[in-house]
Amino acid sequence: MKLIDGKEVAAALRKGIAAEVGTMVAAGGRPPCLVAVLVGDDGASQTYVGNKEKMSAEVGFRSQVLRLPDSTTQEELLAEVARLNADTEVDGYIVQMPLPRHIDEQRIIEAIDPRKDVDGFHPENVGRMAMGLPAFVSATPDGILSLLRYYNIPTAGKHCVVIGRSNTVGRPIANLLSQKGWDCTVTICHSRTANLPQVVAQGDIVIAALGRAEFVTADMVKEGAVVIDVGITRVASETTKSGWRLLGDVKFDEVAPRCSYITPVPGGVGPMTVVSLMKNTLKARRGL
Ligand code: NAP
Repeated sequence: MKLIDGKEVAAALRKGIAAEVGTMVAAGGRPPCLVAVLVGDDGASQTYVGNKEKMSAEVGFRSQVLRLPDSTTQEELLAEVARLNADTEVDGYIVQMPLPRHIDEQRIIEAIDPRKDVDGFHPENVGRMAMGLPAFVSATPDGILSLLRYYNIPTAGKHCVVIGRSNTVGRPIANLLSQKGWDCTVTICHSRTANLPQVVAQGDIVIAALGRAEFVTADMVKEGAVVIDVGITRVASETTKSGWRLLGDVKFDEVAPRCSYITPVPGGVGPMTVVSLMKNTLKARRGL
């Protein structure tokens, strides 16, 4: 069994991005510029945005966090979005989700200029991605592809079983892995799937993205399978200082010995997501 080390892969990709930015700047170019819009004071969102700001600086990007109060109206946020769309110094930006309840998230996503939509959530990018056209691919599926690529994990002709059909993880990763170049035969499972354990047991590659802690057990996993655990669930813990710990969707201790490769939680898919955002911002600077 080989552990897929997301921190190592993320560090390697960060290094590559920083080198490219260095070359760009040395040639007299402007560094890529990423803006994050944060509405309200949700603690988790502040942490995510803080990480994005820190990593932007590490790779040599210009970055800015636009902090707006919880009371911001939809019209005010749309005006900010229009301003960022028009700002030629801004290559890409994200509007951190979730937004306060009085704002329609989909309305905001659709107002973002698709050429600056480095989160890859705009329907134009989702559609282009689904058609295999150049697009901003959202962070989690892109991060999973980077892990498979880094470890040279064979995918052609493999049966990949994805558990979860969300627009942010399950559906896009299933679509991408079925495309030419990745060439998997893909099955998507969800909460209405019949005989789910038997279906998962057919997977050469299993991607667990359902958000149910330790759902995937050893009896569901074929000997030698590659297991990518996307799930993150915070559970109470008496053994950690914080009083909680993170669990994945896979019962790691019993599943790992059966796998050829497996991602841990934390330290697997998680570290990849911010670096994928950096990749997209660099792509936005160059032009899709
Ligand atoms: P989501 O929107 O809640 O979707 C969950 C999917 O799993 C749904 O399609 C649901 O089926 C399916 N599902 C739920 N219970 C199931 C069950 N018992 N059997 C089979 N399928 C079941 O979640 P998400 O946004 O995709 O996220 C999934 C997990 O990944 C969460 O733990 C989230 O925190 C984590 N995540 C991690 C990262 C990272 O950076 N590592 C990034 C994004 C998400 P239905 O469609 O039938 O309801």
